[in-house]
Amino acid sequence: MAAVPKPNELIKISHLPPKTGWMDTPVVFRKGNFSYPAKKKSLDVVGMPYGRDWSPMDEDWKLPDNWKQIVMEGLRERLEKFRTLRLFMDICVRCGACADKCHFFIGSGDPKNMPVLRAELLRSVYRKDFTTAGKIFGKIAGARELTMDVFKEWFMYFFQCTECRRCSLFCPYGIDTAEITMIARELLNLLGCNIEWVAGPAANCYRTGNHLGIQPHAFKDMIEFFVDEIEGVTGVRVEPTFNRKGAEILFITPSGDVFADPGTYTLMGYLMLFHEIGLDYTWSTYASEGGNFGSFTSHELMKRLNAKMYNEAKRLGVKWILGGECGHMWRVINQYMDTMNGPPDFLEQPISPITGTRFENASSTKMVHLVEFTADLIRNGKLKLDPSRNDNLKVTYHDSCNPSRGMGFFDEPRYVIKNVCNNFYDMPTNTIREQTFCCGSGSGLNNEEFMEMRMRGGLPRANAVKYVHDHHGVNMLSCICAIDRAVLPPLMNFWVPGVGVTGVHELVGNALVMKGEGERTTDLRSEPLPGFEEEDEDEDL
Ligand code: SF4
Ligand code: SF4
Repeated sequence: MAAVPKPNELIKISHLPPKTGWMDTPVVFRKGNFSYPAKKKSLDVVGMPYGRDWSPMDEDWKLPDNWKQIVMEGLRERLEKFRTLRLFMDICVRCGACADKCHFFIGSGDPKNMPVLRAELLRSVYRKDFTTAGKIFGKIAGARELTMDVFKEWFMYFFQCTECRRCSLFCPYGIDTAEITMIARELLNLLGCNIEWVAGPAANCYRTGNHLGIQPHAFKDMIEFFVDEIEGVTGVRVEPTFNRKGAEILFITPSGDVFADPGTYTLMGYLMLFHEIGLDYTWSTYASEGGNFGSFTSHELMKRLNAKMYNEAKRLGVKWILGGECGHMWRVINQYMDTMNGPPDFLEQPISPITGTRFENASSTKMVHLVEFTADLIRNGKLKLDPSRNDNLKVTYHDSCNPSRGMGFFDEPRYVIKNVCNNFYDMPTNTIREQTFCCGSGSGLNNEEFMEMRMRGGLPRANAVKYVHDHHGVNMLSCICAIDRAVLPPLMNFWVPGVGVTGVHELVGNALVMKGEGERTTDLRSEPLPGFEEEDEDEDL
């Protein structure tokens, strides 16, 4: 991993245009600005072609002789298949409204990170082969040949886009650069040019059901470890079940919640909540991953990895599916699952067994997000909550791009947080809700070697956190996305030290007053609750 410059160095960002035109400015791979390429064994597992040992820094990328033909044929197929792609290629007027809306452009100053120019990397090649003006006028019409340099540029910049869709919000035509990135990544994948941080987890998920490659017995062991932890904190022993046929609800969450702090504390919150309301639910050790790194690879792989959710729901005979706090999982479910792998006619429209609320919004997918489920419980007075247990926290909320901009979850998480915390402060309005800034590490870019770009891309998000940290003393950043729970801690440590990261259901777990619980003196991190701090012995001296 390349050393990341210190914040006072990284903040020196030039947004001046380069001396050469964008078509004549070559791409330069250096440590810190790209992710390591996919390994052959990861591509082989899912049957993706052209696995090999290579590095983007190599002159020769070891592509087959007919690589250009493969890409252009792939582009032709996708133009026929995806009407949006053809539309997005044709209708951009290059007005520039999206230009300064991308966190990677803001944090790097690299013009090719302007959404309009990122899309133009593909659009210029499209023009050359698929438009009359491009064929006749070439460069004057903004067209160019697909060359090896262009292909390398694609790898660089389509893996410097987190598919967050912030740019599309500001485009008068609704052009979605994230979808252009998805297609460009598909084209790169035709030649084995994925990144390992996407291909590895996707391969693991294909083999074992989760990104980390954890086998069923280990998955169960981990959750049982948290059962012990909960008992230590509350005195209550929760009793999750696994692969139980006939349960009413199948619960699926990203494996990051099971294996990495601070997601694990969020998972403890899930377990406590389900126990407290007596939910008839089961975990699956096969559909043990809510995330879907296939969605960062190709529509085809996304579909294959997603299929296990409905398959497992069918095998277990549940009525509907409840999903944990995840970001891109919800984009896949909300936007694609029903049409890719459904309709799941064997499932029922979700109805909360506790409140009787019918989730009309999940009529087709048959899957409900936990934050709306919990908001409904609170609204119906089904939970006993003591928000003062979170009084050591001043909380803000990061709208993770996919559940917020992609799905419209703006009010539910805030409603839950305000019921379990007494101190909540929103970040400035142009950085939240639809306009939220990305964490800078989504869509499979949450790897170590990309850390410099992650810190650059996360700068606008961190800057907004810094505002509420400085003005209100905010010390906790909450979110409903597992990738965010993994990537925001280093981002905060870098730009806003002193701000922690939590899932919303960790806050719920802290505030939840459970039947039969003992005196709670610590939170789920085993830190003292407010009022139970040990006196600092040094101060007494
Ligand atoms: S989708 Fe997000 S990361 Fe990609 S170009 Fe648009 S704003 Fe930038
Ligand atoms: S805002 Fe839309 S039309 Fe304008 S440059 Fe960006 S993508 Fe093109």
